[in-house]
Amino acid sequence: KKIVVIGAGILGASTAYHLAKSGAEVLVVDRQDRGQATDAAAGIVCPWLSQRRNKAWYKLAKGGARYYPELIGQLEEDCESDTGYNQVGTLSLHAEPEKLKKMAERAMKRREDAPEIGEITILSPEETKKRFPPLSDEYGSVFVSGGARVNGRAMRNALVRAAVKLGAKILHGNAAILHKNNVVVGVSIEGEELLADEVIVTAGAWANEILKPLGITFKVTPQKAQIIHLQLPETATDSWPVVMPPTNQYILTFDDRVVVGATHEDEAGFDPRVTAGGVHEILTKALTVAPGLSEGTLLETRVGFRPFTPGFLPVIGPLPNYKKIWISNGLGASGLTSGPYLGRELAKLALGKPSELDLSDYDVAGAIE
Ligand code: FAD
Repeated sequence: KKIVVIGAGILGASTAYHLAKSGAEVLVVDRQDRGQATDAAAGIVCPWLSQRRNKAWYKLAKGGARYYPELIGQLEEDCESDTGYNQVGTLSLHAEPEKLKKMAERAMKRREDAPEIGEITILSPEETKKRFPPLSDEYGSVFVSGGARVNGRAMRNALVRAAVKLGAKILHGNAAILHKNNVVVGVSIEGEELLADEVIVTAGAWANEILKPLGITFKVTPQKAQIIHLQLPETATDSWPVVMPPTNQYILTFDDRVVVGATHEDEAGFDPRVTAGGVHEILTKALTVAPGLSEGTLLETRVGFRPFTPGFLPVIGPLPNYKKIWISNGLGASGLTSGPYLGRELAKLALGKPSELDLSDYDVAGAIE
């Protein structure tokens, strides 16, 4: 089967990898838009402490976190170990011991059907600071050993490289969809037409534009995120845990950097600029929680556009009223967590295999006007 995947963020890259692994003939087309969400994202994989009540969302995020270690193992078999993924654990901070107790109880309850959460430990402010020295003195924490961090760019690259090793081809450029009597027959890449048996659209925040010529208004909106990379000279930060403060920001580290962020800007459209207000907001919040970062070197600020579909819930499945075309989108703020898993399920669908997801929970029709 010849399958074209349009968009190589984490979702398209994972889809292509799983398709190639199943023996399909895969072509991935990516336009390398400035602000690709995956490219800007350095993220947390720790959905279990979230207070969001939507069950369908939690199922994806939980499934995603559970799938990571298995996927990392598969990528290692394909000689891809530079994935930016590390299960360093997460510290969820709070200054009030009562709140920490409640958080730990919630995590224990969730562990009943998610043993991958691992150890759950309440830490005193001293113990917390020992694990993440730049923190201010007042925060105790709940430590969850199954939490992880991942570098979106590294993970995407590893998936694409592995797919290519398994025979997939990658092209850079703008793709348009070719169709005849509501059956999708292939793609046109920069004017060159290529036929395919199935087309998969994983175009993130830009998906409306590619579906418009099919007479479809796809309700995806970009949410701009700015995120800052710092470096602490002569400090080994590689295995520090991820920090989740009581605010909507987070702090995580890699071997050569500390990443703090991110903003949530709903009205900015596709504005790719780093702004004074964005940087100010991130640094104010980060340095309040972790004053020890104030001596860090400012390395760079990245900007990405999180794709959101209605109800803040991802969609996955066939495109209504058309044949041989599949869509997934709306990974929002948790796409590094759910993306690899959703990509595996999307690959199954395009190959005519059953998915373990109940597709009616993530109906593509819900994102179409
Ligand atoms: P994208 O990565 O945006 O990829 C879409 C691709 O499609 C782009 O490369 C684009 O160029 C291509 N494309 C579009 N149209 C066309 C076309 N016509 N032809 C060819 N190519 C096309 N998630 C977490 O789980 N935890 C986190 O801590 C976290 N932190 C984040 C921090 C930041 C700063 C950001 C921006 C996001 C964060 N996320 C996090 C969310 C996560 O990064 C996104 O949900 C995810 O990356 C979305 O992936 P995607 O593949 O759907 O889209």
